[in-house]
Amino acid sequence: ELSERPIKALETGELGFIPERWTKIYLDWMENVRDWCISRQLWWGHQIPAYYCDDCKEMIVATEKPDKCPKCGSSNLTQETDVLDTWFSSGLWPFSTMGWPDLESPDFKKFYPTSVLVTGFDIIFFWVARMVVMGYEFTDKSPFKTVYIHGLIRDEKGQKMSKSKGNTIDPVEIIDRYGSDALRFTLTSLVTYGGQDIKVSDERFEYGRNFANKIWNASKFVLMNLEGVDDSEIDMSALTIADRWILHKYNEAVLEVNKNLESYRFGETAQLLYEFFWNSYCDWYVEIAKTQLNKPDTKSNTQRVLRYVLERTLRLLHPVMPHITEEIWQLIPGKIYKNNAQENELQKLPAKQSSASAFFTPALQSIMLTDFPKHDMGLKDEIAESKLNTAIETIKSLRNIRQAFNIPVSATIQAKIYSEDATAQETFEVVRSYIEIFARVERLSVKLGIPAEIPSQSATTMMGTSLIVVPLAGLIDLDKEIQRQTKKLETLAQEKKGLDSRLSSPKFLESAPKEVVELTKERIKEIEQQTQSIQELLKSLAK
Ligand SMILES: [Zn+2]
Repeated sequence: ELSERPIKALETGELGFIPERWTKIYLDWMENVRDWCISRQLWWGHQIPAYYCDDCKEMIVATEKPDKCPKCGSSNLTQETDVLDTWFSSGLWPFSTMGWPDLESPDFKKFYPTSVLVTGFDIIFFWVARMVVMGYEFTDKSPFKTVYIHGLIRDEKGQKMSKSKGNTIDPVEIIDRYGSDALRFTLTSLVTYGGQDIKVSDERFEYGRNFANKIWNASKFVLMNLEGVDDSEIDMSALTIADRWILHKYNEAVLEVNKNLESYRFGETAQLLYEFFWNSYCDWYVEIAKTQLNKPDTKSNTQRVLRYVLERTLRLLHPVMPHITEEIWQLIPGKIYKNNAQENELQKLPAKQSSASAFFTPALQSIMLTDFPKHDMGLKDEIAESKLNTAIETIKSLRNIRQAFNIPVSATIQAKIYSEDATAQETFEVVRSYIEIFARVERLSVKLGIPAEIPSQSATTMMGTSLIVVPLAGLIDLDKEIQRQTKKLETLAQEKKGLDSRLSSPKFLESAPKEVVELTKERIKEIEQQTQSIQELLKSLAK
């Protein structure tokens, strides 16, 4: 009878599991209910409310301790020493924390039933099932709408963590070494939608720590450059392509984050924010912003864009990295984001909560009280996105050329871009200054039409349908470079000869482990590729 409503809840949608396959485990348990041995011999727990008459041995079960034995009238009564099974009390958790049995308590009225329960699959039939049973029994409602089941955390070899195996990770130790935001971020980023188990080793938390460091250092740089920033909104009529690009990229990130969170894709959310903040904001926008901050006509608006995107990104990151985001948010200058919406929020909190709200006096506002960013059609700008992406790809290609030919970092280069059509040509013209600055090009020349013959002593690469040419004469010692590359070719050829003879030996093929044979084959492929690219390189170096 107790399981009737918990089973029906799945049909009515009052309760659901994510991923859905876990519904079966829950249902199996509910449909095949067995007797539950409710007593435990523990020193901690709810003592079972049963009393024994010392004189006639009568047993009385009652909420309050009775004065007398109803059978013989004796007042010598002793309570049972066994306690109720753990799940008895933890099953009450969703509502006993909200003021239950007082159904009029403000917490209960505001927060019950709750929305999402996050837990592991191994306690679906222990904890989850009991909470639902007790929720219906005592409150007539499912205690939560959604049960989100995540994978179990295992060690790096995939073994279950256990104290006896000595392969456990102590979160407190991880927090001491890497920080609590690093712990949260790393674990969140490893969560998969399918609820696969998560393999972790200590080192994996370096990922979260490095990201936290990046956020801190980049924010420190931005804050330093926000000195003197005014309280105005961004002037949307005076944006550079880079400004438009970062606002667009930010806006796309907002869209994706919201979509992911709504569909319980937490790992993707963390990875997306990592990519956006590290690559788009830090590696590109902040670098470009440095040049814009040096010009009086772009300085103020660049400051506003820097601040806007940082402040909003902190909000997006806040659920995963609560401490660092709050800390930095408090340091952001300007009152425009710290409006008095918080005061209104405060008043909405139930009365009992207001003792804790001493922390949230209107003067001490918090990122926790800001709205979570929403997608804004006004920031969508696919034209700027495509233009700056072209600039970025070109810069990357030119940097690759510089690296391949050992061009000194300090040297400026000449570069020509030949475009097939006028649209591409125009794009390169528009983003010319970005390419010149970030690939150290003295003067980028943009031409229409691809030349039939590639100029000698030049490095070349294709960018879509456009051809990039970098003249090398005078930039590097051509003879020395030819020598260096030729020597590399010889070394590679030598190595390949050795590997080939190994692979042709039947003895090796018989006795070597499969992986070693595979690795050898892979290495040969790698050598062939390297050889080919060096040969091409030598061709372009030839006079
Ligand atoms: Zn008695």
